[in-house]
Amino acid sequence: MRKVKIVILGAGYGGLMTATRLQKAVGVNEAEIVLVNKNSYHYETTWLHEASAGTLHHDRVRYDVKNVIDTNKVQFVQDTAVEIKTEEKKVILENGELEYDYLVIALGGESETFGIKGLKEHAFSIVNVNSARQIREHIEYQFATYNTEIEKKDERLTIVVGGAGFTGIEFLGELGNRIPELCKEYDVDYEKVRIICVEAAPMVLPGFDPELVNYAVAHLEKKGVEFRIGTAIKEATPEGIIVGKGEDETEEIKAGTVVWAAGIRGNSIIEKSGFEAMRGRVKVQLDLRAPGHENVFIIGDSSLMINEEINRPYPPTAQIAMQQGETCARNLAALVRGKNELEQFKPDIKGTVCSLGEDDAIGVAFGKKMVGSKASFMKKMIDNRALYMIGGPSLVMKKGKFNIL
Ligand code: FAD
Ligand code: NAD
Repeated sequence: MRKVKIVILGAGYGGLMTATRLQKAVGVNEAEIVLVNKNSYHYETTWLHEASAGTLHHDRVRYDVKNVIDTNKVQFVQDTAVEIKTEEKKVILENGELEYDYLVIALGGESETFGIKGLKEHAFSIVNVNSARQIREHIEYQFATYNTEIEKKDERLTIVVGGAGFTGIEFLGELGNRIPELCKEYDVDYEKVRIICVEAAPMVLPGFDPELVNYAVAHLEKKGVEFRIGTAIKEATPEGIIVGKGEDETEEIKAGTVVWAAGIRGNSIIEKSGFEAMRGRVKVQLDLRAPGHENVFIIGDSSLMINEEINRPYPPTAQIAMQQGETCARNLAALVRGKNELEQFKPDIKGTVCSLGEDDAIGVAFGKKMVGSKASFMKKMIDNRALYMIGGPSLVMKKGKFNIL
């Protein structure tokens, strides 16, 4: 009898969680499982702000996919998905194509630039290992070059971070620790460096607990961060950015580095493949399937679910992507066994912790607010838990964070 063929696209949080749970839930005689990923490695997207600032080497944030899957049960294909032809039940890859009976799209998100002029050309985004490594190298290059120039350009040492959401704030926290090290290494006067965070909304971390936000702002300001709140980036140029102040007024901020951390959208393959989407994210059914596509599951940052309590979408997080992966694996196992009643996904939000550098953080976990070393400890536990969920204790031993104060 022909086995059911399941193709999982993406070995991020959602895809790896699906693959590692599915390999346990179905037997080799029941289904053929294929996992496709662009790289041979998985990276912890949630640690990329550290690799970008240079406070953690990029090799620490990644591990081989083959180390965490059972290769007797899951076939790993290193390739890039280009398009999905749902009518033909086929995925077009850069180097071939794959047919499927069931498909899981777990390709993560992409930086959302909202069509703002010059951002794609002149700003960096924290999206994967390659971009993180490039940001780290670029900042270091600015420091290394500064003292070699006869006419010193102080703006070389200005770093603009667009967006004071969780990504922007976590990156600023790392920069706060990294800049003094760079100043020392390259004999640069600390007073010459500027770190400016530009946020369009009237507050930092819009919607988060105000008491915790005040703590974060005060601590980041102490580390030298200047906040420009209620100020939107309107354009990026080779010299820096143009921001809007009020209705018609604009101001130029010259900067050697601009990092855009002001939001994400779903993977571009979603729209290219004809799925109905909002900013590249498909509003999936409660069983995680795409409406009108009974054999296609979409999870993680390329999916969208509404939190009925507040009538707004759940934020795209690793926490949710991993939980969706677990449900998705159970639903696939049910379908393989001919059951049509599928589990409905309900996120179990345990909290949110935002790091402010290696030694500091703010957060709410299990309903309790926390700051400082306690929150930082919790953040490292969350990071280690993600490793444990996918690769068990051996992965935690290899990649875990144990520098707990
Ligand atoms: P990802 O984990 O991003 O994985 C997508 C995978 O698909 C990647 O391996 C990628 O290489 C692969 N891929 C992409 N395109 C292709 C293609 N065309 N072909 C083949 N493979 C492809 N969330 C939290 O819950 N807690 C946090 O503390 C947190 N911190 C964050 C910090 C930062 C700096 C950032 C940027 C995000 C953070 N998030 C956090 C959000 C979280 O990282 C994402 O929501 C999560 O990674 C989404 O998981 P995913 O499985 O959808 O995609
Ligand atoms: P976000 O959408 O949460 O925040 C983007 C910020 O950029 C917003 O505050 C927005 O007002 C601002 N912005 C938008 N346009 C702007 C402009 N033109 N100029 C200036 N500011 C502008 O995006 P994010 O921070 O990248 O987070 C993405 C997802 O990842 C979220 O779901 C977040 O919860 C999650 N995340 C979680 C953590 C954590 O739990 N520790 C860390 C990082 C990211």
